[in-house]
Amino acid sequence: MTKVSFFGAAGEVTGSNFLIETEERKYVVDCGLFQGSDQNTEHNDEPLAYNAEEIEAVVVTHAHLDHIGRLPVLVKNGFKGPIYMTAATAELTGLVLKDAFHIMMSNFERREGEEQKPMLYEEADLNRTLDMFKPIPYHKPQTLFGEDSVTLFDAGHILGSSSALVRAGEKTLVFSGDLGHWPNTLLPHPDKIGAADMVITEATYGGVEREKKQDKLEVIKSAIDWVQERHGVLLIPAFSVERSQELLYLLHELNKLHQLPHMPIYFDSPLGIEALEVFKHHQELYSAEVKKEESTDREIFDFSGLVITPTSDESKEINDEPPPKIIIAGSGMMDGGRIAHHLKRYISHPNTLLLVVGYQAEGTLGRAIVDGAKEIMITDDRIPVHAKVEVVDIFSGHADNDDLIEWLKNIHLSTGGKVVIVHSDPDRSKVYCDELKKIMPQTDISVAVIGESVGI
Ligand SMILES: [Zn+2]
Repeated sequence: MTKVSFFGAAGEVTGSNFLIETEERKYVVDCGLFQGSDQNTEHNDEPLAYNAEEIEAVVVTHAHLDHIGRLPVLVKNGFKGPIYMTAATAELTGLVLKDAFHIMMSNFERREGEEQKPMLYEEADLNRTLDMFKPIPYHKPQTLFGEDSVTLFDAGHILGSSSALVRAGEKTLVFSGDLGHWPNTLLPHPDKIGAADMVITEATYGGVEREKKQDKLEVIKSAIDWVQERHGVLLIPAFSVERSQELLYLLHELNKLHQLPHMPIYFDSPLGIEALEVFKHHQELYSAEVKKEESTDREIFDFSGLVITPTSDESKEINDEPPPKIIIAGSGMMDGGRIAHHLKRYISHPNTLLLVVGYQAEGTLGRAIVDGAKEIMITDDRIPVHAKVEVVDIFSGHADNDDLIEWLKNIHLSTGGKVVIVHSDPDRSKVYCDELKKIMPQTDISVAVIGESVGI
């Protein structure tokens, strides 16, 4: 019997953390942060539900914080490695974890003297974690222990992202990781995976079809035109990894089509700027189309008007530039990072356009704005919202209902095989579960429950 237990992303989207147990060994897939409301993030402080010292190896699907954010907690609790992932994921994970640590530390120092919880982990735990990364290529089985192995497949979600096929205790488990939506701007279609006894699939957009016809270039172009006409500011809060680089690539495309009006475009995301370098030296991971583009034009993330502002002084100078202007900044859910300063300054202006291109989790500032907040609080200041807020779904890096089903249908499930749904809000996972039951009446399909296990 091989057993999978769900200690995160069960009945919700964040905190991915799955434990695999065979008769002999234990492995972990992903160890992410719980994100969103205070109530949710409190789970991060809870002790791990298993003994980290007993874990033989960890597999990481991709570099998003909700999949990697508690890796140093595992190490702090005695996990000794190795941690398998693709080379691009290892590089991006290093950047994302260091960034997260600095944010955690500065928040901690800001509250010095107040009563507060200890930090989740120390810098030494983080450094030891980074030393345990073992990059492995796609499609090549890596031994975990004895006959147990992991093989990574391209998930097309962010650079280096994977679905993981784990052979454990003579059973084959497939963890979808987060799956990309296609066609994707920079990345290829997710790989097809052969056969499995159990599939653990994300369903962030289970039951939801997204508008596919609306062209990304068109959306950006009309947003730019809107602020140009009004001499306004276009604010695009964007996740530092993938979304930001995708936006730069699309702006490069618009520029090539001579459709980019003359105005400064600031890329004001220190983490995004570092991640851009990882993108630039992993061209082998681009889609065929982008590879072709890159072979004739080396600067696919550059265009006239682009201003990159890594330092905070450079970031402050953005204020001095009169509109119209465009600012791409993190964090993607607007809870912190440099976008906070720009929101503070510009969200009360009616000639500001806030273009929301990413998922906004419950409890975040971004979600409050998207839900129509008339006023927001930023660093103790009450700011009225007069900006135009436009939400576009097409930029989501997540598979929608059709994509999820297509991916799943390509996996041949053994007789008695199981599908477990994770990484989804309760409403959506129920709709998706009901739909799958209709399509696959012979299969045991369930929604993961936090703390519970499914055996095969
Ligand atoms: Zn993700």
